[in-house]
Amino acid sequence: MSRILVTGAAGFLGSHLTDRLLADGHEVIGMDNRVSGQTENLDDAFENDRFSFYDHDVTEFIHVSGELDAVLHLASLASPVFYRDHPIKTLKVGALGTHKTLGLAKEKDATYLFTSTSEVYGDPEVNPQPEEYRGNVDPYGPRSCYDESKRYGESLVRAYRDKHDLDVRVARIFNTYGPRMRLDDGRVIPNFMKQALTGKDLTVYGDGEQTRSFCYVNDMIEGLVSLFESAVDEPVNIGNPDERTINELAEVVLDVTGSDSEITHEELPPQDPQVRRPDLSKARSEVGWEPTVGLREGLRKSVPYFNSQIE
Ligand code: NAD
Ligand code: UDP
Repeated sequence: MSRILVTGAAGFLGSHLTDRLLADGHEVIGMDNRVSGQTENLDDAFENDRFSFYDHDVTEFIHVSGELDAVLHLASLASPVFYRDHPIKTLKVGALGTHKTLGLAKEKDATYLFTSTSEVYGDPEVNPQPEEYRGNVDPYGPRSCYDESKRYGESLVRAYRDKHDLDVRVARIFNTYGPRMRLDDGRVIPNFMKQALTGKDLTVYGDGEQTRSFCYVNDMIEGLVSLFESAVDEPVNIGNPDERTINELAEVVLDVTGSDSEITHEELPPQDPQVRRPDLSKARSEVGWEPTVGLREGLRKSVPYFNSQIE
């Protein structure tokens, strides 16, 4: 049994990862300031006496007594709507929060996992994106608070690896969806699910020909655990390579929900990436992981949850 700190534990991915680590027999300390997370996501975890929770902002000094085997840093604003509302908090959690959690990992001699993002590639000129691609990011652009916080975070992780010999992992996570996403999160799948299930028009931004590649949450958690258990101390893409246009996504959502909502088009947010698809060669060869859940299947599994969130 390991003793593991998960930051961002009340969030979508953090709560699923917490449940998985508890099921594997570990002791988990969850930490979150609930800026975008919800403690209901941890209802199952609270039933487990190997779980404890700290309501704490990770940009402030973190004190955890006793030993720690691992620090998994997931805390961040993650949806474009939320990080545009909280740009300074986003920059602080990627910079100061990553610094504090790295300092804690060094102090405890713990293995460290950083959840980076496909956004480090910006609006990519190369598709699919291999880890070697350096990205096309505007440092003063509307998404820069997120992109640059994660790029800085990766750099800080690398510095702790090189300078302090810290055992590190860096996951570059691509668009992930499933139960426990907030309905008001603003990301495309919660938006479309809510609209389809309430008979409202699905709001496709721009012409809908931009692409994303969507990964079901169970696959993502398996990918993060596999990466953590590997010895790869360089960034690894974790996601699903099944690339779809947003128009296609809207059609699949209408189909799995059985909705007769219409599709409307709204203005494309500035600098919305045109394409995004992970090159998974490294995940397959060095981590021994690849996703197994298709888009239609994953969306179908998610419908009951999204339905339960509608008042
Ligand atoms: P989420 O918003 O559901 O969860 C993030 C959690 O971090 C929230 O519970 C929030 O309250 C917490 N948090 C934010 N700032 C904090 C702070 N200063 N101190 C303590 N807690 C703080 O988002 P998610 O989708 O679960 O994302 C988890 C991680 O994965 C993030 O680092 C995100 O950047 C990364 N990621 C997610 C996706 C995706 O598609 N879900 C894609 C790429 C990267
Ligand atoms: N999008 C959309 N309608 C919505 C929400 C999002 O067409 O109601 C588009 C958005 O412009 C982007 C894609 O869906 O092209 C994915 O957006 P999301 O906010 O989920 O995440 P991103 O991949 O941009 O970080």
